[in-house]
Amino acid sequence: MSLQFKNLTVQYRVSDTTDDRVTTLDNISMKIKGGECVSVVGESGSGKSTLALASMKLLAPNAVMTGEVLVGGTDISDLSDSELEKIRWNEISIVFQNYGDVLNPVHRIIDQIAEPLIKNGESRSTALDRSAKMLDYLKIKPGRAELYPHQISAGERQRVLMAMALITDPAVLVLDEPVASVDVITKSYLADVISEQVDSGKAVLMITHDLSFAPVCSDRCEVLYFGSILESLPSHELLDAPRHPYTRALVRSFPMMECAKDLAGVRGTPPSRSSEFSQHRNRSCIFQPRCTQSIDVCSQKEPQAVSRGAGSAEVTVAMSSATAAA
Ligand code: ADP
Ligand code: MG
Repeated sequence: MSLQFKNLTVQYRVSDTTDDRVTTLDNISMKIKGGECVSVVGESGSGKSTLALASMKLLAPNAVMTGEVLVGGTDISDLSDSELEKIRWNEISIVFQNYGDVLNPVHRIIDQIAEPLIKNGESRSTALDRSAKMLDYLKIKPGRAELYPHQISAGERQRVLMAMALITDPAVLVLDEPVASVDVITKSYLADVISEQVDSGKAVLMITHDLSFAPVCSDRCEVLYFGSILESLPSHELLDAPRHPYTRALVRSFPMMECAKDLAGVRGTPPSRSSEFSQHRNRSCIFQPRCTQSIDVCSQKEPQAVSRGAGSAEVTVAMSSATAAA
């Protein structure tokens, strides 16, 4: 089963009195096949979590979404909540970025993992048994399962979230920053788990700002900048052979980009999301105002995607005009 976005645009309404909106994802198209992991990288605020939430139609109430989100061929964008209930957590699961909001502080972790199974008609004892096995798979020590969320470590909490996403064995898995703020041992466990899930045939969308983690688990990497995909490349080329000036800046800035709040060798900051900007973006490369490599054509028209290599894992698209011309 695959996960596919077709011309996905998400805007957030930002005023109670007018129809003012900010565009957070702009015409995103990508497909993740079963047995494939695609990572999405980009700075904070580039729209990564919005993409993750759109994949399950869990966007905030002020979001306006157009385009298609296909889960195994079914466009979920038009489905009602009751129709979505059947798909969410059964066919597609998500590990949310902010686990604090997800885990219920007054329930034991094993009960929270067992809950969707019980909801699906499993007996309580079978559900608890399967949950214990899942926690064991995620290397949570026996005895920890009986604890409450505040009694376990950040690394354990991240693995509990993974257990909750995996317990119903969905065909599609969405991971929003699965290794942010975990220790290196947990990171290595999670890398193994993600790879095993991909090998078992799941389609995995992995959002991460950890550029060293992306190539470990994913086949392809999509570089998101201000709601647009600027480059798509085989993950093994992310650190060694990035082509787009923005991707090169991201790689140069890693691992300091989140602390330093700027990108090495890139002038300015991301543009503001005003309507003035929305008009501007149709006429030029979105990265042009900050690009040190830009030439005249970059401010005159949006660059066309350029493919290279053969097969989907070997395709790179959306080069900047300057890079394409070089
Ligand atoms: P990332 O995960 O890459 O940090 P997000 O998808 O969380 O990015 O956010 C992208 C942009 O959308 C940010 O500028 C954020 O402030 C804005 N945003 C996110 N949710 C909302 C919302 N409900 N209303 C208005 N703006 C939002
Ligand atoms: Mg995010």
